[in-house]
Amino acid sequence: MRLSRYFLPVLKENPAEAQIVSHRYMLRAGMIKQQAAGIYSWLPLGYRVLRRIEQIVHEEQQRAGHIPLLMPTLQPADLWRESGRYDDYGQEMLRIKDRHDRDMLYGPTNEEMITDIFRAHVGSYKDLPLTLYHIQWKFRDEVRPRFGVMRGREFLMKDGYNFDVDRDAALHAYNRHMVSYLRSYERMGLTAIPMRAASGPIGGDNTHEFLVLANTGESEVFYDDRVTALKLGARDIDYDDRGQVAAVCEEFTTLYARTDETHDAALFDQIPEEHRKVGRGIEVGQIFYFGTKYSESMGATVVTADGSRVPVEMGSHGIGVSRLLGAIIEASHDDKGIIWPEGVTPFPVGIVNLKQGDGSTDLACEGIYKGLAAKGLEALYDDRDERAGAKFATMDLIGLPWRITVGPRGLAAGKVELTCRRTGTSEEMSPEAAVARVA
Ligand code: ATP
Ligand code: MG
Ligand code: MG
Ligand code: MG
Repeated sequence: MRLSRYFLPVLKENPAEAQIVSHRYMLRAGMIKQQAAGIYSWLPLGYRVLRRIEQIVHEEQQRAGHIPLLMPTLQPADLWRESGRYDDYGQEMLRIKDRHDRDMLYGPTNEEMITDIFRAHVGSYKDLPLTLYHIQWKFRDEVRPRFGVMRGREFLMKDGYNFDVDRDAALHAYNRHMVSYLRSYERMGLTAIPMRAASGPIGGDNTHEFLVLANTGESEVFYDDRVTALKLGARDIDYDDRGQVAAVCEEFTTLYARTDETHDAALFDQIPEEHRKVGRGIEVGQIFYFGTKYSESMGATVVTADGSRVPVEMGSHGIGVSRLLGAIIEASHDDKGIIWPEGVTPFPVGIVNLKQGDGSTDLACEGIYKGLAAKGLEALYDDRDERAGAKFATMDLIGLPWRITVGPRGLAAGKVELTCRRTGTSEEMSPEAAVARVA
């Protein structure tokens, strides 16, 4: 992408409405624009990151055997009357009437609708296990939308729902979700700690939230800091192997890690003092096992091997896709701007032309741009007629992992400069070597 032809409305000034760094940088880097409280347009740069996060979520869900579909954003109120949640949900639910005076709502979550799909088409244990998920916009009329996309009213969520014949199979689905979530967050360059949580309006008693530690987080968290060193890494996981998947979950949930809702001071005090930590965290996901709460009220049953009919065992599992942009920036930035982890960066590398219009510099930049493209990497090429300082400031702000700087002086010696955004270190090398290093 050539910056001269792109749409990157960078702001020079700090927007007054932004209280936290991720919100500030997302506005300044031209990633989002607020359209109403808690409702945003995703400008091209922000949209690219959003799509990359979605892609990781899709890949990891499907790796775990979960099946994508797409449900609508608008739902009929009648489904929610069946489960009893239409009245319970309260003011967070945006209620709408259509022209025929029918009660509709903008979905804050989809347990009812997925249960309706299941009961219409599945009736036998032979069709289980089944986990369906989608990535779709949700609306919650939050009392205090704030911090940009971190607490929006309209936000993008991955929500998945498992259907199983018995409790053990449903707990295996729960565990599969935990492991696939850990993998997803790691690919995004995040450490998200599973913490025992309270269930809220979804119901059920088996639930974990995934928290990214950040002092701007809204949840108070209590943990043994050895939990932050746990990594899934590149290990091979067989998602059908109940024992293996359960062992990973145990590894990640044995050390103490809880939010204030489930915090137990007596247990916490047993942690050696040097490892006992109190901090704040951003909730980037949550998994629930709730058994037959919805299947019973909505009549979603299956016939078992012995011919009896039982309500199907369920759970639901969410990832805050749009919130993750904020969480990643909170966890990875400096005073110049964002530092994107490689897994989610909008472009893998930027090219800065120090003397636009100079024949040999332009030619060298074009060569690098095409060389990267040949290796499957789309660079963001700053080909504008701008001062070097402004170009560097933009690149630092938008936080691409690598920058290749090309100018007449270096080229005279056959060199360009390769700079790593995270470490700030620069190295001179030939254009070919720079392309090879990035790729
Ligand atoms: P919170 O405690 O932050 O209000 P929640 O517990 O109500 O979140 P869930 O129902 O667990 O949210 O939804 C799954 C995920 O969706 C959350 O873990 C979070 O990452 C994301 N999410 C929830 N509400 C919002 C919001 N208003 N804006 C952006 N993301 C959200
Ligand atoms: Mg909430
Ligand atoms: Mg919560
Ligand atoms: Mg939650």
